[in-house]
Amino acid sequence: MDAPLMDKIVSLAKRRGFVFPGSEIYGGLANSYEYGPLGVELKRNIQDAWWDTFVRRRTDMVGLDSSIILHPKVWEASGHVTGLVDAMAECKHCHNRTRADHLIGDYFEKKGESINVEGKRVEELNEIIQKNKIKCPVCGSFDWAPVRKFNLLFETSIGIVPESQAKAYLRGETAQGIFVAFKNIIESTRVELPFGVGQMGKSFRNEIKKGNFIFRTLEFEQAEIEYFFDPDAADWEKLFGQWKDDMWQFVTKQLGVRGENLRWREHGDEERSFYSKRTEDLEYRFPFGFKELWGLAYRTDYDLNQHMQFSGADLSYTDPVSGKKFVPHVIEPAVGINRLMAMMMLDSYTEDGDRIYLKLPPKLAPYKAAVFPLLRNKPELVKKADEIYKNLRQKFMVAWDDRGNIGKRYYAQDEIGTPFCITVDFESLEKNDVTVRDRDTAKQERVPIGDLAGYLTPKVS
Ligand code: ATP
Repeated sequence: MDAPLMDKIVSLAKRRGFVFPGSEIYGGLANSYEYGPLGVELKRNIQDAWWDTFVRRRTDMVGLDSSIILHPKVWEASGHVTGLVDAMAECKHCHNRTRADHLIGDYFEKKGESINVEGKRVEELNEIIQKNKIKCPVCGSFDWAPVRKFNLLFETSIGIVPESQAKAYLRGETAQGIFVAFKNIIESTRVELPFGVGQMGKSFRNEIKKGNFIFRTLEFEQAEIEYFFDPDAADWEKLFGQWKDDMWQFVTKQLGVRGENLRWREHGDEERSFYSKRTEDLEYRFPFGFKELWGLAYRTDYDLNQHMQFSGADLSYTDPVSGKKFVPHVIEPAVGINRLMAMMMLDSYTEDGDRIYLKLPPKLAPYKAAVFPLLRNKPELVKKADEIYKNLRQKFMVAWDDRGNIGKRYYAQDEIGTPFCITVDFESLEKNDVTVRDRDTAKQERVPIGDLAGYLTPKVS
C-alpha cells in the first residue's frame, strides 16, 4: 500500500489489462504502450465524451478526419520543421539522452527551487548545466556533450524506389490538417463565423525523454479544435474565457477530476510563441508535479497566413452579409487523450482499508456492470445469470465473473472501476430479482430482473 501512486497505477494498469508496455516480448520500446481490453474501452469512452461534447452537441462546431501524412510543405509552413525542436543533452559516460529543459527543471525542483527555461537558447541551457554542475540522473557523472537541437517530427519516405522517394513526416499535431482543409470546409458546408473544427487522431513525436507512463509517448491520440472568428466582430478575450470554462467543466464534470488538482498557468513572454497573443495551460497535479494537460492558445491569423503564403491558395473568408473578406483568427484548445486517461486513473484511485477502487464516472468506466452467479456449480443460477449477462450486454459493456467467492469478485471489479455488481442467488430463482451492489458505497439492494436495464441506464449514461 505504500508504493508511490504512479507505481501503483502502472502496476494495476498492466495487471488488469488497461495499459501494457509496448512490444514487451521484444524487450520493450521506450515511450510506447499498448491499450489492453479495459484500456481501449476507457480511452474510447473519453474520446467519445470529448467528441460528443465539443463536436456533436455544439451548433458552432464541425468535425474533420484528415491524413496522418500530409504534404511535407505543410510542416515547413507551420514552422514545425524548424520549430518543433527540443534541446538535447547527452551524457558522454552512459549515453543517456534527455531534454535539457527537463534536466534543468528537475534539478531545480529537487532543490525546492523553480526556474523557467522555456524559450532559452542552446547556449544558455549549456551554461546553466555547466554552472550548476548538474549530474546525469542515470549514472551520476558530470560529463555532458554540448546541448544540441533535435527535431521531434518523425520522418518517413513516400515511394518504393529509393531514387524517387520523397521525404515526408508523420503529423506532429492534428491541428495543421484543419488549416489545410479550411478552404474545403467553408466551401462545402454552410458554416459561418464564429465556428470551430474539431479533429481527433494519432499524432507522433520523437520524444527522447522518459515519458512517465502514458503522459508522454511517441504516438498519442490528440484532440484539437481550431475556433475561427472575426477579430473585429468578436471579443477574443471573452472567447478565450469561454473556452477556459468549457475545458474546466469537461475535466471536472465529465471526467470527474477534482478541481483542487487542477490549475491554470499562463505562458510568459519568453515561453509563448511569437504569434500567440495569449497561451494558458490547464495543468494537473501529476505525481511528478503540476504538468500541462491541455493547452489553450490564441494563435491569431498566423497559421492560415502561413499556409496561404506556402500554398498560394486563398484561405480568406467572405462574410455572407457584409461581403467583408479577411483571414479569420483562431483560438486553439489542444489536448492528448492519453494524458487525460493517465490523469483519470490517478485521480480516481481510492484506497479504503484494504479495498482499492477506481472511482471513475460510471459513464466512462470500461464496464458499467458485472454479472455473477453466486455459485458456478449450480446450473440454474448460472443459466439465469447468463441470460441477464447476454441481455444487458446488448446495451452496455458488462463483465462476467463466476470464479472465487463473491467478496473477491467485488474487489476485482472495484479495482477496475465497475460501478455495479449484479449477483444472481437462490432468492433470484424464486423472486426473479437480483442483488445490485454499488462500487462507491458498497451498499446492496434488490432489483427486479425486468427492471435492471431501466435501473442502470440513468446511472451509467
Ligand atoms: P509538452 O510541453 O508536455 O511536451 P507541448 O506543449 O509540446 O507538451 P502541445 O504541442 O501544446 O504540447 O500539444 C497539445 C497537447 O497534446 C498537450 O497538452 C498534451 O496533452 C498532448 N501531447 C503533446 N505531446 C504529447 C506526447 N508526446 N504524448 C502524449 N500527449 C502529448
